[in-house]
Amino acid sequence: MSERAYKRTNVYEKADEKLLGDIFSYAEGYKVFLDEGKTEREACAWAKNAAIEKGYKPYKFGQKLKAGDKVYYDNRGKNLYLIKVGSANIAEEGIRIIAAHIDSPRIDLKQVPLYESDNIAFAKTHYYGGIRKYQWAAIPLALHGAVALADGSVLNVKIGEDENDPVFYISDLLPHLAAKQNAKTLGEGIGGEDLNIWLGNIPYTAAKDDKDKTVKENLLKILNEKYGMKEEDFLSAELCVVPAYKAKDIGFDRALIGAYGHDDRVCAYPAFTALFDEEQSKHTVMVVLADKEEIGSEGTTGMQSALFTDLIDALAFSYGVPSAAVRANSKCLSADVNAGYDPNYKEVSEPLNSAYLSCGAGITKFTGARGKSGSNDADAEFISFLRKAFAENGVIWQTGEMGRVDVGGGGTVAKYVAKANIDTIDIGVPVISMHSPFEVISKADLYEAYLACRAFLK
Ligand code: MN
Ligand code: MN
Repeated sequence: MSERAYKRTNVYEKADEKLLGDIFSYAEGYKVFLDEGKTEREACAWAKNAAIEKGYKPYKFGQKLKAGDKVYYDNRGKNLYLIKVGSANIAEEGIRIIAAHIDSPRIDLKQVPLYESDNIAFAKTHYYGGIRKYQWAAIPLALHGAVALADGSVLNVKIGEDENDPVFYISDLLPHLAAKQNAKTLGEGIGGEDLNIWLGNIPYTAAKDDKDKTVKENLLKILNEKYGMKEEDFLSAELCVVPAYKAKDIGFDRALIGAYGHDDRVCAYPAFTALFDEEQSKHTVMVVLADKEEIGSEGTTGMQSALFTDLIDALAFSYGVPSAAVRANSKCLSADVNAGYDPNYKEVSEPLNSAYLSCGAGITKFTGARGKSGSNDADAEFISFLRKAFAENGVIWQTGEMGRVDVGGGGTVAKYVAKANIDTIDIGVPVISMHSPFEVISKADLYEAYLACRAFLK
């Protein structure tokens, strides 16, 4: 192929000893973040602690900011803003924003979850985000979340992660008796109301009243003894069911990582580590770790919350400049994953415009569906700006579309940032089996995403 032709670069093919070492050592830190931050609450707390270690201080509205300040805003423990104030004029140069999300598809307990059927105690659930339900049966599950008790105190829950913890479960049929289920479509095989979590099997035989000699009663006794909980406390709880296993290297060569929740912690981690490591940047930088992306970026902790522009207003106010000027000159990387090209399912991808594993950070100019509908379609000029920054800093990147035209589609936080009149583009790591309980990414792409974030902040 001539010099004039466009060709993707395979990172592993190109990498020297030094780069390979950096790729593999960076991945180790990421795996710890994955294992310790499986929900937005845990990921938010983890990143906040990392920021505090780097000298970040809590921000209160009304407080004036000045060059050199490093602050964080913890929004309800689920959404984190990190701001490093630089020396550049924010009205003229704007600020540099990297927005990633820290919520992942999962299965949430309902508010009245407990019931018993034929000596098995279960919890009713309502899934969160776009999952393929059949993938969540017959795997070990952990219970994470928070219970806000009647006295206002909050009980943090994490069961199923410790080696000695029990795990939870959703059952599926044995093949011997699954003929009828096998005839259903994959989407219909397991329904939303079939995602019932197995909780226990031992009845409370010591009960005085015969009608209390149930498995559910025994469960309530355990919950009360261990956590001081009553059944009513589930009403004010957010309990999430997530896969119970840890992140693992995949393949003989360990090139890939399999884990729950790469989408979108695989972009969140590069975002805040790049902020910490790009200490000398003259730009004012804002890293957003958003919640609720998987259900449309709604709510107080989602990207559509006014908090985003409120914080830019606060920066503008500190310098006595119009917020509109700051936003008009700002730039944002919407750091989110893209569908990686999967040779096992070639038919859903268009080969020229797919993001390939280990070919670097993937830029997605537009998302959406049916004629780019619902997409922030980034400007060519903004891509050119990034091309230059990436070339100057040796970042390996590629372009990738979310599947063949009219096969499906998706969205990110990009359009909500762009709505504030901020140049925004999607960039992230290609993922295989996205939204499944065990997603796969390449360590090389993870590292290039980190380098891309650093180049953007330089
Ligand atoms: Mn995502
Ligand atoms: Mn997603």
